[in-house]
Amino acid sequence: MQIVDYHVHSAWSPDSRMSVRKALNYCRENHVKEIVFTEHLDMGDPGQIPYLDLSSYLVDIEASKLEYPDIIIGCGLELGMHPGNIKATETYIHPYEWDFLIMSVHQYENIGFCDPMLLQRFEKQEILDKYWNAWFYNVEHFKDFHVLGHLDYLLRYQPISIEEFEVWTEPKDAMLKRLIERGQGIEINAKGIKSLGRPHPSLNILRRYKALGGEIVTLGSDAHSVSNIARHFDTISQYLKEAGFNYFARRDFEKKEFYFEKLCIENYAGVNSVNKSFLME
Ligand SMILES: [Zn+2]
Ligand SMILES: [Zn+2]
Repeated sequence: MQIVDYHVHSAWSPDSRMSVRKALNYCRENHVKEIVFTEHLDMGDPGQIPYLDLSSYLVDIEASKLEYPDIIIGCGLELGMHPGNIKATETYIHPYEWDFLIMSVHQYENIGFCDPMLLQRFEKQEILDKYWNAWFYNVEHFKDFHVLGHLDYLLRYQPISIEEFEVWTEPKDAMLKRLIERGQGIEINAKGIKSLGRPHPSLNILRRYKALGGEIVTLGSDAHSVSNIARHFDTISQYLKEAGFNYFARRDFEKKEFYFEKLCIENYAGVNSVNKSFLME
């Protein structure tokens, strides 16, 4: 089994200063065989204007592929989507070909889901409804993505219990069924470990996706710095096993399709120890 990380932000994202080469050097030294850069694109977010220059980003990644032939490099985006920016996002990304696209929900209308003051401005139920409705609408009206990113991101920032978040309703099943029909998946995102003590999304969501026939789960660190690349992958692999999966998904960028690799937790021991020594330097 190879160590692959399908969610990494380089300095092409506004919130990372890690150059693509720095990330790739780290991968080379730490036996990470595949890395997919998934830079932020949240159309309508004033903090991201001017938007990511997609053609320059693609040129940079193409050049890095020649410099690092020993590493599989994917060029992707993490699309921050809501019903109000679907058309603009489609228009912006469609002229280019993408290896991997994550669709996330970070905000909707006047609600930034990471806003620490959110519960002072809105009722809890209103926030929950907006959050889930953004997902339902996005999945129904936007098709060009491969996985849903950190599906329970809201819980990372808001004091909302998992029980309140996961009141299971037909639209949630309908959304997961739609993904399955279209061959799309969910990512396991290690970033939740720091704040929630577990990866995103919850085991219940993963188990429900599986029970409905879902198979596609990718593994991502959501790293914005080298020390977080492929970090906690032993934990997220174990977590995926607990959810009932024996395989995780990778993409064949040539054939443009998913394939599966068996989970093997022992593989990550080396990476974690190297990560630790790296931090001590
Ligand atoms: Zn995100
Ligand atoms: Zn991210």
